Amino acid sequence: MTTTVTPPARTLRPPRKARSNGQWALDGRKPLNDNEAFKQDGDPLAVRDRIMRIYGPGGYESIAPDDLNGRFRWWGLYTQRKQGIDGGRTAQLDASELSDRYFMQRVRLDGGSLSREQLRVLGSVSNDFARGTADITDRQNIQLHWVEIDNVPELWRRLESVGLTTVEGCGDTPRGFLVSPVAGIAKDEVIDPTPLARAIKDTYLGDPELANLPRKFKTAITGSPSLDILHEINDVSFVGVNHPELGPGYDLWVAGALSTAPRLGQRLGAFVTPEDVLDVWYGVIRIFRDYGYRRLRNKARLKFLMAEWGPEKFRQVLQDDYLGRALPDGPAPEEPSGDSDHIGVHEQKDGRFWVGAKPPVGRLSGDVLLGLADLAERVGSNRARTTPLQNLLLLDVPAEKVDDAVAGLRELGLDPDPGAFTRSTLACTGLEFCKFAIVETKKLAARVSAELDARLADTDLERRITLTINGCPNSCARIQIADIGLKGQIITVDGEQMPGFQVHLGGGLASDGRAEAGLGRTVRGLKVPASGLVDYVERLVRRYLDQRLPEESFAQW
Ligand code: SF4
Repeated sequence: MTTTVTPPARTLRPPRKARSNGQWALDGRKPLNDNEAFKQDGDPLAVRDRIMRIYGPGGYESIAPDDLNGRFRWWGLYTQRKQGIDGGRTAQLDASELSDRYFMQRVRLDGGSLSREQLRVLGSVSNDFARGTADITDRQNIQLHWVEIDNVPELWRRLESVGLTTVEGCGDTPRGFLVSPVAGIAKDEVIDPTPLARAIKDTYLGDPELANLPRKFKTAITGSPSLDILHEINDVSFVGVNHPELGPGYDLWVAGALSTAPRLGQRLGAFVTPEDVLDVWYGVIRIFRDYGYRRLRNKARLKFLMAEWGPEKFRQVLQDDYLGRALPDGPAPEEPSGDSDHIGVHEQKDGRFWVGAKPPVGRLSGDVLLGLADLAERVGSNRARTTPLQNLLLLDVPAEKVDDAVAGLRELGLDPDPGAFTRSTLACTGLEFCKFAIVETKKLAARVSAELDARLADTDLERRITLTINGCPNSCARIQIADIGLKGQIITVDGEQMPGFQVHLGGGLASDGRAEAGLGRTVRGLKVPASGLVDYVERLVRRYLDQRLPEESFAQW
């Protein structure tokens, strides 16, 4: 590749030490900014009661500003972007000018698990309260849009009647966990992470002691050798490994995160037995609560504390002060095997099958969810799962029903055998609903990936090239860990302003088949207009195919 590149990420520096950084364990709890003040001024989770008693019956105008712009997030509610404001004005307007009276409602689905009954309820609330919207997020959640506060109490009542919740869907909390979408069913699983995920959820979800963290806290757990939960970019990750003496357990990773100062997680070298794992999760999250920086929100994620401490000190503090015992050393995960996107038909360990399909750019609808519930019933399945790559799996299909399941998914627009680019393209919410967005993403990604599949059908891509389209620098669709990562911005071409992208190349994780995870590099000076994206990616991929050495991946090229 002949393009000039810059280093992948800025050096991550913790805040200066001369003044208080708002670390509770060292500096006390005096709030250092408005956010910290409102979090301490009453339990943020208590806003639920006001939504049920006051704001639902009273409507939008009855909502107190601190609740609207702050505490609502603790129950998965964000105001969505006002329609008709173009991306060029995002930076010029404040949040209240960008906010609509409608909400995005995030429904947390730890591990993406959905029963048939839950599919039906989600489909019905989508149609009744969210204009039929339902997007799978890259954390296996479902997001509804166009929700009005008047309908939230009834929406929650219906969700909760089938065991679904929105608690801590957003906010400075333990967010929805990524769990291997094939947990408990994959033949090659090292360890089934289902009990761990359930234990954390049952024990700590909605715990007021963990509801005021310095910032969001992301958990990922897998026992799949495909390493399917992006363990390098979560605050805490447990990756299934076999210890030579102690048997199956987990390798512990801490403090990964992307956003505007990306940092890959660190291996602590510690082996965590199934018996220890709940305590270790609780220890890591409390270290973050107690020592995380609270002065500045953009320096609050756990990665900044790790930059100061390093993995050795982190492990020592965890063992000495939070566990009261040493953890044994353990092996690193083996080189990944199998496709981490779980698309297609696969036999489960019990002899039944899962069928993985791709909703284009993760977009479902109320009708598709209802259709999926009907299909599940017809083919004898009672379970579906969403994935961190915004795919959808139908589980437990008997052999004789697999063809029906495949045909039924296709009829619903969920492709079990998508083209290479449709399969590997991710897009964030973007300008359609997100207040931070600068450019449109979802529709663009659907069009670009379909066109690339058509134009590059003559090529021989043994390994898929990942493409992610992000509406702003926040990297919700992971700019820095894609082969081609696109960061939305307004660009100027021939004196004219238009939506476009800064390009990052060569990022990827172990699950993409790389020896080691690496962050992509910005292509200096290159800005691609949205209207020229298909041409640019096609040219780039053809050049790679022409110039690559045998076995050379896109990231190595
Ligand atoms: Fe919104 Fe930016 Fe995240 Fe996209 S990357 S969802 S535009 S915050």
